Amino acid sequence: MSKSKITVIGSINMDLVTSTSRIPKVGETLLGDSFHTIPGGKGANQAVAAARLGADVTMIGAVGDDSFGEMLVSNLTNQGINTENIIRVQDCCTGIASITISDRDNSIIVVPGANSHVTPDMIEKNEDKIKNSDILLLQLEIPLESVIRAVELAKKHNTLTILNPAPVMELPMELLGMVDYLTPNEHEQMLLFASTDGTEKELEKLKEKCIVTKGSKGVILYSNGNDVKIPSIPVEAVDTTGAGDSFNGALAFSLCEGMKIEDACRFANVVGAISVTKLGAQNGMPTKKEVEEFLE
Ligand code: ATP
Repeated sequence: MSKSKITVIGSINMDLVTSTSRIPKVGETLLGDSFHTIPGGKGANQAVAAARLGADVTMIGAVGDDSFGEMLVSNLTNQGINTENIIRVQDCCTGIASITISDRDNSIIVVPGANSHVTPDMIEKNEDKIKNSDILLLQLEIPLESVIRAVELAKKHNTLTILNPAPVMELPMELLGMVDYLTPNEHEQMLLFASTDGTEKELEKLKEKCIVTKGSKGVILYSNGNDVKIPSIPVEAVDTTGAGDSFNGALAFSLCEGMKIEDACRFANVVGAISVTKLGAQNGMPTKKEVEEFLE
């Protein structure tokens, strides 16, 4: 059987994580405790989650012409992801998230860098990839107009679309009407509905497309006007970073495998749960074998 074809269009970032006793005040210099560079970006994370499970994944995105860009593309290639369609933007930095963590607080600065160069024009150049995929998986860390163009092309070629609306922002009904599935967490769902001015009928339709993730409380779907609750898998959570990305990659994989939506959510719940038992976003994402062993 040929492998499921998933195209992810989204962000590729390097997370620069500093641990310190406390967050420095304005103008203050502190000695930190440790520093790590960790591959991230919601697009890249979701691509890795699907690839670990055995999907045939193509990543479309952009990195800068710096060493982070090189490291991130090799990281994706090493996971078996097709990286031919990732562009290297000259004189531009790779997207980064500079994260400072102390016991009590954290502070984060995100520089989108090359991710801003994923333009509608670039999306159009990849129309064939979108056409030949079973699923197109998107988030909101690239320009919104590019997300809209990608969904338009997917619609034109009958490719199923999943939009993880994170980080949440006001989205046009035109886009929400076109996507097949939306995967907000609880907070994103609230803001999404509060900021979208659709008719009652449009909002009802939108609700039907939503798969709302609720952390350790599992997932809620809306089917034929009813809530369907799918409980999470109880685990000892060590680090919940990237749980949503694991869930989305696994959802894309399981839908590609032909699972019905409720079963696909059950499978993605297992993947999300396993991912929180290990430190790091991509580090915790399980292979199909690890999922099978977990379920034994
Ligand atoms: P993040 O932004 O941290 O990546 P998120 O807020 O987008 O996460 P969550 O709703 O927290 O996403 O988690 C996604 C899924 O991961 C949940 O629906 C669930 O399946 C799984 N999950 C998350 N936290 C836990 C937990 N503590 N125990 C079991 N499963 C969990």
